[in-house]
Amino acid sequence: MTSAVPALPLNSGTAIPQVGFGVFKVAPEDTQRVVEDALEVGYRHIDTATGYENEAEVGAAIRASGIAREKLFVTTKLRNDHHKAQDVERAFDRSLDALDIGHIDLYLIHWPMPANDVFVPAWRAFGGFFEGGRAKAIGVSNFLVPHLQRLIDETGVTPAVNQVELHPIFQQRELRAFHAEHGIVTEAWGPLGQGKYDLFGMDAIQTAAAAHDVSPAQVVLLWHLQTGNVIIPKSSSRERMAANLDLFGFELTADEMAAIDALDENRRVGGDPNEVN
Ligand code: NAD
Repeated sequence: MTSAVPALPLNSGTAIPQVGFGVFKVAPEDTQRVVEDALEVGYRHIDTATGYENEAEVGAAIRASGIAREKLFVTTKLRNDHHKAQDVERAFDRSLDALDIGHIDLYLIHWPMPANDVFVPAWRAFGGFFEGGRAKAIGVSNFLVPHLQRLIDETGVTPAVNQVELHPIFQQRELRAFHAEHGIVTEAWGPLGQGKYDLFGMDAIQTAAAAHDVSPAQVVLLWHLQTGNVIIPKSSSRERMAANLDLFGFELTADEMAAIDALDENRRVGGDPNEVN
């Protein structure tokens, strides 16, 4: 199963498994069990954040699994109140300590917080995390085109990844085109729309699910993979975790892809990065 998950190359020279497991809103007391389940069903890529307050439990699950560290890919993120250059280094070290798994595969600025206007110096500090192999890749999350352009123009360092809200009614076409032009991998958060609208009831999704005898969630996740996105769906149920990884025995046709592409309303269900400050 796990060997079927493709990995996309990153500009750091490493590669990110295209399917991972997110732990947003997984309570610290549940996280070790949930991540152990995810690893058992075959996930090898875990997405956490300092702000999720479950890094230590993610690390504990990884250590308990006995899976070789080099077979795993772990992302964590800089908390929004730690952007100031003097805080960035300390925040990174705290994440390394909390996870206690040797290195971080991908470290992200969680939100640009543009009103504070300190994401550029924060990004400069990120370059230091490659030293000693402490981080293998660096990137951002929730960055809009002007924010990415500033990072590139003012530091000359292009993020490996931009992790953004992305699902069928919010497809991020302009941002994805910018990513493609600059070799930035698009990672979709809320790949299932966070359950905030009736995605699974939409005709295009239901028709494809019936045609392939799979669930609507699997159709949506496969649409992401065929679009080229990395996905990190979250579920606390072992059965859904397994289903969300079981995406490699079928393929959506061009017509099915086009029907899902046509669902785009350019409508967010989460926070606007210009307004999260
Ligand atoms: P998601 O789109 O993954 O949706 C999760 C919801 O879908 C849950 O309610 C879950 O019960 C349900 N679900 C999961 N699998 C299902 C299935 N097979 N059938 C039916 N329902 C199913 O939303 P998310 O958890 O917000 O996003 C995924 C991950 O993205 C997070 O865990 C986190 O790691 C990351 N994330 C990042 C940011 C950011 O700002 N960078 C923001 C939100 C989430």
